[in-house]
Parts: sequence; C-alpha cells; structure tokens
Amino acid sequence: MKAVQFHEHGGREVLRYEDVPTPEPGAGEVLVRIRSCGLNHFDVDLRENISRWPLELPHILGVEFAGDVAAIGEGVSGFREGQAVWVLHEIPCLECEYCLAGMDNLCLRAEMYSVQRPGGYAEYATAPARAVFPLPGPEWHDAAAAGQIVFTTAWHMLMTRAQLRAGETVVVSASGSGVGHAAVQIAKLAGAIVIATAGSDEKLERSRLDGADHVVNYGQEDVTACVLDLTGSRGADVVIEHVGGERFGACLGALRKNGRLVTCGGHAGEVVDLDIIPLFRNEWSVIGSRTGTVRETELVMDLITAGKLVPRIHAALPLSEAAEAQRIIEAREQFGKVLLRP
Ligand SMILES: [Zn+2]
Repeated sequence: MKAVQFHEHGGREVLRYEDVPTPEPGAGEVLVRIRSCGLNHFDVDLRENISRWPLELPHILGVEFAGDVAAIGEGVSGFREGQAVWVLHEIPCLECEYCLAGMDNLCLRAEMYSVQRPGGYAEYATAPARAVFPLPGPEWHDAAAAGQIVFTTAWHMLMTRAQLRAGETVVVSASGSGVGHAAVQIAKLAGAIVIATAGSDEKLERSRLDGADHVVNYGQEDVTACVLDLTGSRGADVVIEHVGGERFGACLGALRKNGRLVTCGGHAGEVVDLDIIPLFRNEWSVIGSRTGTVRETELVMDLITAGKLVPRIHAALPLSEAAEAQRIIEAREQFGKVLLRP
C-alpha cells in the first residue's frame, strides 16, 4: 500500500510517500481502507520529535481517520466489507483502574494511532473490532475524520469536567480554533449563552456562524471587562481555555464567584501567573481536561452524523501532498481541519 512515513525526525522534507507492506487483520481485528485522515498539530510535534513520545522509526503519522471495512479478522462479527466506519483514535485497555472506573480517557495502557500504532497517513490500518464504529455512509468520512478529537475534547471539557447546565454563560477562548469552534457549537446545543473570544474579526464572524451570542476581539478589547459588561457585572459561569500564556489570567478574571475554568492546552505559554488570592476568595475552580471517554466519543460522533454538530473543514489533499498539508498547519493558515485522502 501507499503510505507517508518518515525514517528520521526533522522538517517536512523527511516525509516520504512510498510503498509499505499492507497490514493484515489479526484475530479480533478489522482492516480499514482509509478514506479520510484528519491532521493535528501533534503530527508536526511527532515529526520534529518535540512531543515527548518515543516513536519507532520508520513511522506513519495520523491520529484520527475514517474509511471502509476492507477485511474482517477471525472471530469478528457485526461488520460487512465496504461498510463505512470511523476508528477510535485512542484505544483504552479496559482493564486498568481508570478504565474499570469509567474513566477510560485516563487509561494507563492506551494505544494511540500515530504513537503506539501506525497512523492514518496510509491506505490501510488495522484496528481491534471494539475500536471500529459504523457511519451512516461514505459521505461522512470527512466529517468523522475532522471531528473526532476536537469535538470529543470540547464535549469532555464542557459536559463532564465543567458540568455545564442550560442557561449558564460560557466564555470560549480562541473560538476560531478546532477545540474552540467545537466548544461554541456544543455549548449552544446544551442551551448555554456563549461569549466567543478570538484575535481577529474574521474568526469571530465564523464563531457567530457556529452560534456564539456575543463576540470579543481580544486584540482590541479587554476580555474581563467585556464579559463583566455582558453579564451585568456577574461574570461567566464557565470558561473554556486552551491557549495559556497571558490569555489564561484574562480568562480567569472573567469568572463569576464559584465559576470554573477548564483548560486543555497552553501553546501560548505552558507556565502561567496565577494570583492565589482571588482564586480562593472567589472559590474559582481551575480544572484540567484531556480527550473524552469512548462513550463520549460515540455520543459526539452520533451528534455529528445527526447534523447537530458540524466540524469545519479547511481543505482535503491527496495523501501524496502530506508535506503541503503539514505546511498549512505549521503556518496556522487553516480555518478548520486539514484532511488527507489516501
Ligand atoms: Zn485502561
């Protein structure tokens, strides 16, 4: 099969489009013909070897993908060849203490595509049958490949970690990003009032299309002051943060008493200033969050194929143009997901 892999870490020039052996499904596995693979900035981090994950070389990237069932391994039932499916990007062990407690997103022995398993920059990949889920049809390949990680991450932040309720006010930081646009849509679906913040009017216009009730350009306006103004001096119930750096403090100040801030990222600064005095006087909660559980991922994918959540897609390129696809990600030119079509 054709795949894009790298034999040594480095810049985009290390990505090679070449022939590799087609994997075969073992007992309990499904072979998937990949039709659409979503890119993440994580792909670049892995290629450059700054991800803190050790990789075996040569390596095939690609965390999230969808395709068709190409072959079915021994002992697998419930699938037919040609059936459109999506594949869980991180496969929990189902045996560790976190899996047994229903927190399989914190699994101690999870296997992630593009880290412990060869990823989706390839024509085929194998998966345990329990990690393969049906799609209504092939027209959902792109949405499934684009939506799994950002919508599951945003769902876990809002619904599970922040325990969002209808009628609450949510501030979404960097609302034009993947997680940001997902958070705006999910918060609206949950009946919240959404204040979107971003650094450009173009991004904020897209957030309005996602359903944001109010928008704040943090390049021109003070987020804390705007949120207090929009909430009658009360502050927001929930802040969704994934930027870090100076944005973190500005977002914290926008919370009401007893408000909660959930964070899942910090590419603008991983170490932030935190004034402990207002934190305890206001009883704020600062909550960490990563991707969601298997059940949450299934819920989100059902909402996507029901048309309730709409992943934004920037571009879909042929697999042979993986380097160009990563260039778009590195230049942060994209509004929405960049996809590869093997
Ligand atoms: Zn586990």
